[in-house]
Amino acid sequence: MQDKNFKFKKEFGQNFIFDKVFLSSLVKSFSLDPKSNILEIGAGMGTLSECLAENFKRVVSFEIDKTLTEHLGKVESRHGNLHFVFQDVLKENINKIDDIFGGEKYFLIANLPYYITSPIIFKFLLETNNLLEMFVMVQKEVGVRFCGEVGSKDYGVPTVILNTFGETSIVKNVGRKLFTPPPKVDSCIIKISLNKNKFDIDLPSQYHKFVSACFVAKRKTLYNNLCMSGIDKKAAKELILGLNLKENVRPEEVSCENYVKLYKMIYSK
Ligand code: SAM
Repeated sequence: MQDKNFKFKKEFGQNFIFDKVFLSSLVKSFSLDPKSNILEIGAGMGTLSECLAENFKRVVSFEIDKTLTEHLGKVESRHGNLHFVFQDVLKENINKIDDIFGGEKYFLIANLPYYITSPIIFKFLLETNNLLEMFVMVQKEVGVRFCGEVGSKDYGVPTVILNTFGETSIVKNVGRKLFTPPPKVDSCIIKISLNKNKFDIDLPSQYHKFVSACFVAKRKTLYNNLCMSGIDKKAAKELILGLNLKENVRPEEVSCENYVKLYKMIYSK
């Protein structure tokens, strides 16, 4: 329920959804088993949290804004399977989060301020062991970029990382008018299915740094960027030609599979 006296905080990206019919259709679009455990990030007024509690086994929801404690306390008292944690999720240790459901697998659902969406996605993608899938509300353009095809202008570091450790797709478009107050952009929900062993990379954060270095100068070739990262010119050329790529290939023209091969050739030495 909307609290008329509530002061929306821009710094926390507080744009809330109150439309119960929409929230219910959103939850259905996840196609999850009712026995699922759900970690929600960004409870707000608890409207989505409540809908999640009505549909799934257990819901634990993080909220950074402590002024919502009293309101969310009332929401929690209506559901035996819903619990709010008043904390910045980025400051929470991932092993502790992984233990919230007693070591059981869980799904993450987040409608967050856009500026922390990427740090949260990458924190979970690279560090968790028990997360199965994430459903995250992102700005529409960001969703398109995350799902970008190799060779397109939308293909970049996030696309490569997401494809290396899982699969990403857009599940639902969400118009700006559904939010109170309405933001300046439309949104969409993306689904990220985690498959951390897809390419057998044992140090995901090292791989993340490597891919970022390959894209560091957007207008340069992969060869230039590899040399800038400290790889010897002759070795960089051999690595690229060894993958049957053109010497002047650009970073956005290289498939995720080839980034993995390149990484393994460099780091297994
Ligand atoms: N889920 C609600 C809804 O759909 O109406 C609220 C969404 S609102 C876009 C984002 C919420 O995330 C806000 O309530 C904000 O206070 C909270 N938030 C922002 N940063 C956070 C963080 N680092 N950790 C936990 N919650 C955060």
